[in-house]
Amino acid sequence: MSWAAHEFENYFIQKHTGARASFFAIVLGALGPDLFTKFFVYAADDPAQFHRGWPGVGFTHSLIFGVFLATIVLAATKSRSWAIGILVGQWAHVLTDFADTAGTMPFFPFSTELVTISMWKHAAAEGRYGDAAAYYSSLGGVWDLFWCVVVLAFAWRTFRPDYFRTVVVPADARVWAWIHRKFRVSESGLYLIYLGFFFYGLGRMTSWFLYARFGAKTPFQPVWGGPDYVVGADLSDAGPLEVLIRTTIGGVLFAGFLWLCWRVFWRRLWERGEDPPAIQRGTGLRTIFVTESDAPGLKPTAEPPPTGFEPA
Ligand SMILES: [Zn+2]
Repeated sequence: MSWAAHEFENYFIQKHTGARASFFAIVLGALGPDLFTKFFVYAADDPAQFHRGWPGVGFTHSLIFGVFLATIVLAATKSRSWAIGILVGQWAHVLTDFADTAGTMPFFPFSTELVTISMWKHAAAEGRYGDAAAYYSSLGGVWDLFWCVVVLAFAWRTFRPDYFRTVVVPADARVWAWIHRKFRVSESGLYLIYLGFFFYGLGRMTSWFLYARFGAKTPFQPVWGGPDYVVGADLSDAGPLEVLIRTTIGGVLFAGFLWLCWRVFWRRLWERGEDPPAIQRGTGLRTIFVTESDAPGLKPTAEPPPTGFEPA
């Protein structure tokens, strides 16, 4: 598991999906696997097995779980940007969690083989605080920092107010408009909420790192497979070749399953879904929100007048 990388990755994903994916959906998708499980993981007899394995709740860390969530969301909301956001966010989480010793089952239920590169130890057996200390004593903490830098270097554009107004909000006008009206949050307030997830990740990374150094006082060992003082939680005794073969078979079956779903019902679900409207640069949020309430179906706006935003 990662403690802050999931928060940083969201902005990187947003940069690549643009208005096709809702930012809130990406965040929820990325939180999803741990949101449903983390609370129980620390109380389990064998936390790593329970968290990632089968039997256990390891299916939450499989690609099919993202597909399942995205399908429900698409059927319920018709919003393509929500379905895509949930899917991509959850898939990014599955891939990120390859890095610890427990790994994930990407192609569950077609393969229950755990895939891992064992970069750092899965340390949930240490309890919540011990887990954080172990993570920030390993390459995990460096991984968080890496994603923080990647986002600042390559996705800095997503932090600009104009990007927020023309890409992030239109991708999810219904939800941003709802927050704006319900809680009377101004445009800058909405923008701060958006940036908030980054600062949440930054705060989490910094404070847990300091906790590991000065609270738990665990040794900092940023080497492959660290830290030494934690027992490794390697759940599989299969060799690399076995893992490769089983995972490949699982992957092929999974791809076939996706194709079948597309033919049987997804195509129909997708076609009755709706895309976010195209918004011209310089369009005020007020215009976007008004358009949204006039046309709940989020139909593309013909020519939005470039008015400024005034708080209601
Ligand atoms: Zn996880």
